[in-house]
Amino acid sequence: MKKLPMWLQMVISMALAVIVGLIFVAANIDEGNWLYSFFAFISNVFIRLINMLVVPLVVTSLIVGVAGLKDPLKLGSIGWKTIVYFISTTFCAALIGLILVNIFHPGNGFTIPSDIKAPDSNKLTSLSDTFLNMIPTNPIQALTQTSILQIIFFSIFIGIAMVFLGEKAKPAYNFFEACFEIMMKITAWIMALAPYGVFALIVKTIADNGTTVFAPLAKYMFVILLGLFLHLCIVYFSLIKTLGKMNPITFMRGVFPAWLIAFSTASSNATLPVSLRSVENNLGVSNRVSSFVLPLGATVNMDGTALYEGVAALFIAQAYGIHLSIGAQIIILLTASLAAIGAAGIPGAGLITMVLVLNAVNLPVEGIGLILAVDRLLDMFRTSINVLGDCTGSVVVARREGEIEEGTEQIA
Ligand code: ASP
Repeated sequence: MKKLPMWLQMVISMALAVIVGLIFVAANIDEGNWLYSFFAFISNVFIRLINMLVVPLVVTSLIVGVAGLKDPLKLGSIGWKTIVYFISTTFCAALIGLILVNIFHPGNGFTIPSDIKAPDSNKLTSLSDTFLNMIPTNPIQALTQTSILQIIFFSIFIGIAMVFLGEKAKPAYNFFEACFEIMMKITAWIMALAPYGVFALIVKTIADNGTTVFAPLAKYMFVILLGLFLHLCIVYFSLIKTLGKMNPITFMRGVFPAWLIAFSTASSNATLPVSLRSVENNLGVSNRVSSFVLPLGATVNMDGTALYEGVAALFIAQAYGIHLSIGAQIIILLTASLAAIGAAGIPGAGLITMVLVLNAVNLPVEGIGLILAVDRLLDMFRTSINVLGDCTGSVVVARREGEIEEGTEQIA
């Protein structure tokens, strides 16, 4: 394996994992079996190792990135471009989902099982609370609780203060820069384990979910997967080509490791160390842009989740035989985008914020029970799109800001 390029090692480990996972399902190897426990152990080691890096990497990378801009106006310029990009692509994604669900009607004729249960929705916060929660009352607590938005908020402040202080803050800048390099080094080591981690994660996921749950929900899954694929090809690839002036194939090759980690962990947050490394090392995006766009994107920019929430809400309406007017569908479009912004970058977060969308148009919350069984698999795909969307944003913003290293393949 060692001599093969990284991407090929990853592809091989993924293909093998699917085969081994299916053998696990066929042989009924699940919790309680030592083999299952072994794979669960390896996946946990890998996930913990990458999660270990998230907080120190976001802090050091953002401080060094912002302080390195040397000009607060530049931060403003990167900031507004990033926000416009996030909002418009999220909206497009939800729209694509709604169009497809109106074409294919996956929920029509779906029989509702009687034993469905409503999920716990206590974890939801209102929009104003979400904004308020961005301001940490204690930055150290924000670090220990991995509150990414609070960490971003405080790190940007430190970076800006360093810009204003100039020479006086130089020792702190050098310190954070060295810490950032150290974190990137550890990321590189952990990435060398990725083929094994991905292998164990996928085997475990297949063994956990089995294959029988898929058949009744095949049409619903098809609509979501088609939507995600179209969003990638139509929205991201054209943005990469036109605004990012980069060949989409070069882009996909560069972000491949990030995509694979997103797919196998179903967590945008856990993918952060790898996406930072991929866009910087493989695509030449400057740390100034990537350190701002990617951590923020991992928390608020979730196109895959927005698309999924829109489709799922309409699927539930169709399954219950509830007709939704155009007005109600527009509300779904808006709330699905907001719910995606509010979802955390962790597995299954989108399923929880779905409650917002269903409540907005008075759909039965227990409807979530209909789609639970296939959620993990769909989560892997929507997280992939979430992360690819962040990476696309970093390329587009970096190109507009002249922050991509020359030498990265460009197209006219
Ligand atoms: N798992 C997704 C993410 O981390 C969020 C979701 O559940 O949709 O990006």
